[in-house]
Amino acid sequence: MSDIGSDLRRVVRGRVLAPGEEGFEAARRAWNSAVEQRVSAVVEVVDAADVAAVVEYAAKAGVGVTAQATGHGASAAAEGTVLLKTAALDRVEVDAGRRTARVGAGVRWGALLERSSDYGLAAAVGSSPVVGVTGYTLGGGLGWFARSRGFAANGVRAAEVVAADGTRMLVTADSDPELFWALRGGGGDFAVVTALEFDLFDTGELYGGRMLWPAEQAEAVLAAYREATLEAGEGLSIWVTLVQFPPFPQVPEFLRGKAMVAVDAVATGSDVAAVRRITVPLRWFEAIPGVVLDNRRPLRGTDLGGICMEPTTPSAARARGQFLTDLSTHVTDVLLGIAAPLGSPAAPPRSVSPLALVQIRHLGGALTRPPSDAGAAGGVREPYLLSMLGPAPTPEHAGAVAQRQHTIVTALHSHVSGRKPMTYLDAGDSAAEAFAPDTLARLRSIKRRYDPAGTIRGNFPVSA
Ligand SMILES: Cc1cc2nc3c(=O)[nH]c(=O)nc-3n(C[C@H](O)[C@H](O)[C@H](O)COP(=O)(O)OP(=O)(O)OC[C@H]3O[C@@H](n4cnc5c(N)ncnc54)[C@H](O)[C@@H]3O)c2cc1C
Repeated sequence: MSDIGSDLRRVVRGRVLAPGEEGFEAARRAWNSAVEQRVSAVVEVVDAADVAAVVEYAAKAGVGVTAQATGHGASAAAEGTVLLKTAALDRVEVDAGRRTARVGAGVRWGALLERSSDYGLAAAVGSSPVVGVTGYTLGGGLGWFARSRGFAANGVRAAEVVAADGTRMLVTADSDPELFWALRGGGGDFAVVTALEFDLFDTGELYGGRMLWPAEQAEAVLAAYREATLEAGEGLSIWVTLVQFPPFPQVPEFLRGKAMVAVDAVATGSDVAAVRRITVPLRWFEAIPGVVLDNRRPLRGTDLGGICMEPTTPSAARARGQFLTDLSTHVTDVLLGIAAPLGSPAAPPRSVSPLALVQIRHLGGALTRPPSDAGAAGGVREPYLLSMLGPAPTPEHAGAVAQRQHTIVTALHSHVSGRKPMTYLDAGDSAAEAFAPDTLARLRSIKRRYDPAGTIRGNFPVSA
């Protein structure tokens, strides 16, 4: 008798796990364990031919396929699909002469930076070394170089993909302009990527790191942040975070269980003198007393993933992102108010609990000037990005975190634009929240053309 596990085993070389089989429960789990992934099978593909075989099988069998490198962006959309895990597609090729990289769909940012940093080159990396390059880039990708380079997706030159009928294609601006546009920011709903080729750039002199104070200094730090970001040139990215460190043994003792406020900064310039000029706005923070950590220093590309001290092991979390239209005192008061004990708004801020962090990233710069050949990610007018993340090991924790996120966004109602970056959508969000109506309509039309049966299921399907 035929079943999905044996059918898939007949067509692929990689490991196949079906429900009820030993190892299935572990294999179906996402990085973010708050998201249940009740999939119909898991295939750990070993090459592009395996990817093509899985997609062709799914198209014929009438089941969906979800591709994942890490599961950082897991959502309920994977329900019932064949989960195609790409971790083994881990090849990184850096061509320093052409300043390009070709990465397999399973490559994480840390592995790419490890190779490109040797040549003083980088791509538009975000805050975490363990996030997948492909998922991040398909969703746009807003990282340390967003102010100087724009979205990571705009650096893509070619995508090697398997289309919804199982055909392998090399997608470029010339070969398939509409699909190429959709893949650069529209997410994983259009084809399964097996490799991406994109531009690298010379990082020049890199400088930056983290400054950290007890949360009692949050008001002073946010006020300084407003001034520093007004002054900052495009070579300087500054992010501020109200953090509640967990009481876990892996957290350094001086931070364990503590409420803190962090300023993370990266500067890039042609030489040391340029970097010195570019970092002048950081002086706003230097007069704030009580700093418990200041590790600013010349950086290598490989250091970029460690600045924000983000966890590198799987956990259960709920995140919410929103573009902010300004950073007025009302906005910072709301964030400080939530950091103060309830009913005592004048008290010093202590903790963002039940959230683990409330972060503001300074945007602007190149994001406001998308190139004429930009992909679906386009540009961003809003000058700041707010993100809020909290632990969600139980439904009760998840509910409390979601409630706090909702309270903050409601209080900020006239200061959020309503749009969210694709890579910051969370379970319960829809792709419609990431795009302007005309962009969404174009994405939907490309989806109908390239995947009329809906075989490929991105984490935030454009048609849902
Ligand atoms: C700790 C942390 C830090 C982060 N920092 C940033 C940041 O600085 N900037 C930012 O913009 N985002 C950031 N994110 C969000 C992150 O970029 C998204 O969650 C992204 O989707 C993760 O990609 P992934 O491949 O790791 O995850 P996955 O869950 O493996 O993939 C996410 C989605 O991408 C698509 N996809 C993945 N691989 C393929 C493929 N081969 N073919 C087709 N579609 C595919 C699918 O739709 C999939 O559901 C961060 C997330 C975390 C958890």
